Amino acid sequence: MNDRLIYLDHAATTPLDPRVLEAMMPFLTGMSGNASSIHQVGRAALQALDDAREQTALVLNCQPKEIVFTGGGSESINLAIKGVAMALRAQGKTHLISSAIEHHAVLHALDYLVEYEGFSVTLLPVDRSGRVNPVDLAAAIRPETALVSVMYANNETGVIQPITELAAICHERGVLFHTDAVQAPGQLPLDVHALGVDLLSLTAHKFYGPQGVGLLYLRRGTPLAPQINGGAQERRRRAGTENIAGIVGLAKALTIAESERPSHTARLRALSDCLIDGVLARIPHSWLNGDRAHRLPGIANLGFACIETESLLLLLDQRGICASSGSACTSGSLEPSHVLLAMGLSPDEANGSIRFSLGRQTTESQIETLLDILPDLVAQLRAVAPCA
Ligand SMILES: *Cc1c(COP(=O)(O)O)cnc(C)c1O
Repeated sequence: MNDRLIYLDHAATTPLDPRVLEAMMPFLTGMSGNASSIHQVGRAALQALDDAREQTALVLNCQPKEIVFTGGGSESINLAIKGVAMALRAQGKTHLISSAIEHHAVLHALDYLVEYEGFSVTLLPVDRSGRVNPVDLAAAIRPETALVSVMYANNETGVIQPITELAAICHERGVLFHTDAVQAPGQLPLDVHALGVDLLSLTAHKFYGPQGVGLLYLRRGTPLAPQINGGAQERRRRAGTENIAGIVGLAKALTIAESERPSHTARLRALSDCLIDGVLARIPHSWLNGDRAHRLPGIANLGFACIETESLLLLLDQRGICASSGSACTSGSLEPSHVLLAMGLSPDEANGSIRFSLGRQTTESQIETLLDILPDLVAQLRAVAPCA
């Protein structure tokens, strides 16, 4: 990556940690082996796989066999939601609950179950702060509810959800609870017992690991219909030859993220506070989206009245600053973020919001550079296209 680049899009993906690459190297450059082969090359691969599973289980405080390695966050989420739904359908459990602010991997997996498999779905609302209210969950649970899926922290606003409370409500009613914890590693605790979750999804590239590898934590005894059928890998929960290099990288990255979490979060908190305070002080008609107290330290989603985010992103990109609108644009048409709309922002407010996500390489001087540039860019855009 260009040295002068100011990369503030860590919620989209993070650079590979050199220590992680080093751990992966033997499996990238030499024989990576097939963990199902009985000869010595296969046994070495199986040993690496077992070690990675144990290291990962240590961070999540679970048993190694409760971990299913997958091809990333979207796959883990699809396996969790479709896997539990399909396993419980025969018992008449045909209702699912989630929230309006989930990642599309969750929302579109649910759409699929509604469209093709006859399930019904309730999406819980959020308030202006971006949080789900546990009272709404308690009211939404029905006798036929199979699973509740609410994300740990939102990828657009960084707002942290009360998942421990939500999971406890589910368990009182005999309902399973999954959380999309993709944004959590390195910033929030991942002890699955303390959290009380039954299923939890992660993806390595959001915590300085490689792209295309993830995991699903699956509490022992949780019913799950596999979504990829084939060989007996991953205890028949996910067929296919294991991505040994990727899994070794995931385990290393997760171990580092957890051990550096206290210092990492303190640094990110100071930097994002500086960014938020600086923007609010220097730019009139700007605001922070989402609850400031219940927020990942690495994400600041800021709104600017009378601004088109896309124009601002392009101007920032010209100055070497990478940020994001936090929402994907579908086939060229710029849709306002479903997360911000669900929080009660108007389409104009949502379209004037921008996500800065900070990471390990972010420095104070980068934030100062951004704070020097941003007020002028916003003023420039407002001058060209004054507010209606
Ligand atoms: C990135 C992300 C995903 C998807 O993960 P992939 O590895 O890209 O499939 C899911 N949920 C959240 C909250 C994310 O930020």
